[in-house]
Amino acid sequence: MKASSGFRACFGLLLLLAPSAAKSADSLSAARMRADMAFLASDRLKGREAGSPEYDMAADYVAAQMKKIGLQPAGGNGSYFQPVPLMAARARDPGAFTLRDASGQSTPLTFGKDYLVRGGMRAEVRLDAPLVFAGFGLVAPEHRRDDYRGLDLKGKIVVVLAGAPKFLQSEERAYYNGPAIKAAAAKARGAVGMILVSTPSSAKRTPFANQVRQYQAWVMTWRDAAGKPFERSALPSLGLISLSGAQKLFGKDTGKIMASAEAPGGEVAGFDMKISLAIALHSEIKTVESKNIIGLVPGSDPKLKNEVVVLSGHLDHIGITPPVKGDSINNGAMDNASGVATTLEVARLMRAGKPPRRSVLFLIDTGEEKGLLGADYFARNPTVPLSAISADVDLDMPLLTYDFTDVTAFGADRSSIGPSVQRAAASMQVALAPDPMPDQGVFTRSDHYRFVEQGVPAVFLATGYANGGKAAWDDFWANHYHKPSDDLSLPIRYEMGAKFARLNYAITGELANADARAIWNKGDFFADKFAKGK
Ligand SMILES: [Zn+2]
Repeated sequence: MKASSGFRACFGLLLLLAPSAAKSADSLSAARMRADMAFLASDRLKGREAGSPEYDMAADYVAAQMKKIGLQPAGGNGSYFQPVPLMAARARDPGAFTLRDASGQSTPLTFGKDYLVRGGMRAEVRLDAPLVFAGFGLVAPEHRRDDYRGLDLKGKIVVVLAGAPKFLQSEERAYYNGPAIKAAAAKARGAVGMILVSTPSSAKRTPFANQVRQYQAWVMTWRDAAGKPFERSALPSLGLISLSGAQKLFGKDTGKIMASAEAPGGEVAGFDMKISLAIALHSEIKTVESKNIIGLVPGSDPKLKNEVVVLSGHLDHIGITPPVKGDSINNGAMDNASGVATTLEVARLMRAGKPPRRSVLFLIDTGEEKGLLGADYFARNPTVPLSAISADVDLDMPLLTYDFTDVTAFGADRSSIGPSVQRAAASMQVALAPDPMPDQGVFTRSDHYRFVEQGVPAVFLATGYANGGKAAWDDFWANHYHKPSDDLSLPIRYEMGAKFARLNYAITGELANADARAIWNKGDFFADKFAKGK
């Protein structure tokens, strides 16, 4: 309550001052972004979790701003809202995993020590099938690699190592990490289920104990028109086996298997395991309703206006969690009220300036924190023809606590968006820096990637490491990321928000006004995986 009334007083004061003080454009932008963030990151919105009434309040606010700015409603049916129906599931209980060898001898695995359940969107799963081990489950024709080659998967549960071999380029490794990719290849070969096995590297990345603690957290997906949950994975990924559980699966071979997995090539020969696994899983399922908020600036060029440049950012955050230092509201000021405020400010600048030649669509989406769901829903159910979408620039968590002098565009070296960003940045004396954390595979970890999966060139833009940026990012990741302290008490530099908005206005202008639409670089890995024939 306090934050909200404070916000009104502050906003009123700025409105009074603005005309007489003849402030620069940037300070006006800064004031508008401050007002947007003051509301979106206020305690009243309780962390904007997708499906909560407070998320819907935030969505109403964004739609009202879009209307005020003069954007055309582009969510469908003349509305700014695109409904995003969701489905949520969580494990009811620890389930049961029981091994049975050729002699009929049964060995139960211990929940939380040996295994962890993953039920997916099914209330109950019962499966009893022989196991076949297939290394990393990597099928990468460009590397002449097929971990399933020579194995009989028919009617079996395939056991694969979590992650992907180290020789792969980091973003390509992130692509092959995905269980869905492994599952699709396994299903095509007749497998009926899949379980993942930790490796020393994967256990270091995501400790098993952490996952055990969160095993009853809700996981979400979106529902299609028939109400069916969209499942990324062709096969249910039924559980994760820990390093200690691996001993029970592989016995004396475990050390050799893990050593091969950790070697750069990650070549681990698969084999028929000659044991069976009986699995029983129970999940609680519920439906959840949420929405994207979408507005459009129509293009001015009679032909190019049929093409659409998308600027996107997620509105949802992680809601309420157990308290840290007495605070349980994850306000998400940087994640991602700052990105939403930037997107709205770009829309304002665009409406105040010369209309772009291509149309520009502003997508404020839901469910990013639940698995890039709102962006996925839009990319698979776009409110404009998919073929018309020429590019996506996504803003997620721009850190506005220091005077940034460079930016990173994850994916810049994969398409002509990179040079566009470079030109726009150079016009403001901002440098385009290479990915400062290539090992993180960031390119596959935010909303823009859902566009990439539909063949659309995309980048994810963030403030860079120069001029104090590294220290600011290190501090944010360590102390505030996904914590209640990501709130308005951070030393937010709203004039940096204004600068970031101006930069994104310039980038959007480059993409919307160029004679040619954005294209993938020839032979790019993601273009080959997703854009062929589109
Ligand atoms: Zn986040």
